[in-house]
Amino acid sequence: MRIELVNTGTELCLGDTINTNAAWIGQRMAALGLEVARQTIVPDGGAVREAIEEAAARADVVLISGGLGPTNDDVTRESTAELLGLSMQQDAAVTAHLESYFNKRNKPVSAATLRQAMVPVGAVVMDNAFGTAPGLYFPAELAAARGWHSHLFLLPGPPRELKPMVESWVEPRLRALLPDGDTRRVIYLRITGIGESDIVEKVEKDLEAIAGLELGYCIGKGDVDVRLAGQIGPVEQAATLVRERLGDCIVSEDRRVLEEVLVQELAARGQWLATAESCTGGYLSSRITDVSGSSRVFGHGFITYANEAKAQHLGVPLALIESHGAVSEEVATAMAEGCLRVSGADHALAITGIAGPTGGTEGKPVGTVFVGLASKGGLPTVVRRYYYPGARDRFKLLTSQAAMEMLRRRLLGITIPG
Ligand code: ATP
Ligand code: MG
Repeated sequence: MRIELVNTGTELCLGDTINTNAAWIGQRMAALGLEVARQTIVPDGGAVREAIEEAAARADVVLISGGLGPTNDDVTRESTAELLGLSMQQDAAVTAHLESYFNKRNKPVSAATLRQAMVPVGAVVMDNAFGTAPGLYFPAELAAARGWHSHLFLLPGPPRELKPMVESWVEPRLRALLPDGDTRRVIYLRITGIGESDIVEKVEKDLEAIAGLELGYCIGKGDVDVRLAGQIGPVEQAATLVRERLGDCIVSEDRRVLEEVLVQELAARGQWLATAESCTGGYLSSRITDVSGSSRVFGHGFITYANEAKAQHLGVPLALIESHGAVSEEVATAMAEGCLRVSGADHALAITGIAGPTGGTEGKPVGTVFVGLASKGGLPTVVRRYYYPGARDRFKLLTSQAAMEMLRRRLLGITIPG
């Protein structure tokens, strides 16, 4: 099934608005096992009609976003009706929706507003629960007179209106249109702690031998998504193989990122995490607090950049720092254990390293970092040394990822590699 996207809006061409609709739709289609064959961005006005015409002549499905609003430059509805030779009539249900929408806001319903209630004959109205302009679905029969076989979906531009409409109207219809819609499956296995080339080496040859499997990799933030798509049989066979080979490194099978998994695992145990960060400057705690619900598991995050701060807040002896250096296994241990003590949390993660570009030595080059994990309940404090040379933002990302992965493994009883 060939799917094309037409995103309309002068602001998209100017770069004032980023075309997030295209990215989001691409992901949703991928989850259905479909691939967007082409994306077109056009400014408001005459180019909209041209773009729809071209795409409709090639594709089985065209998803068009934007230009459904009340203003003069919103021409998508009229352009599509013209292309298909359909007349327009005022729709009673949409009119009622517009009237109630504006009445609730104490605003009059203008003539411009009512343009949005004009529906091309034969098109199906897709309700817009989050705005005024309804979406419109043109089944392929309507395009047959032009010799086309394409289904057209007109969607509002604002993402908060477009997304629910795609989920509740477009996706069920696409599933129904797919010949094997109900037996297709897509599984994403999110893997961390091992690089893409190692993943490829461990599984690719055997995955490629599975007939009918579509295999893809998507490099994320410190992790890799292995995407398995196709019919249920080959997809499950492939997933079983990846789980056998890389099971310990699989963070999630539903696209959740490591911080989400971590917060949920902690919450399920009723446990608390505290952090003590030096070179990552709060990046670890920032990622954890990106997750909704983190306040149930995260209460203390210390940024102890200076030696004095490590001593003052975590009780790390200055003499220890002097004898071993701030970036050392000993100081990472003392930071983690101090953080655990002062916070009263169940687990404490500590980070001390050299982000660079200056400050490295021969024994501890730029990119060296120690991550410590201390836990209540008689568990031993573990410290691991990592090496992430490169830009500072990448150093922070990979270090925070390694720290969270240490804790995930401890929570799940998986060995933390040496
Ligand atoms: P409205 O009634 O708001 O005019 P509309 O369907 O006509 O709705 P547009 O005018 O094209 O939609 O876009 C409205 C707003 O939606 C834009 O200002 C922009 O912020 C956002 N938007 C539009 N298209 C996209 C897109 N492809 N990706 C992200 N945001 C978009
Ligand atoms: Mg508009």
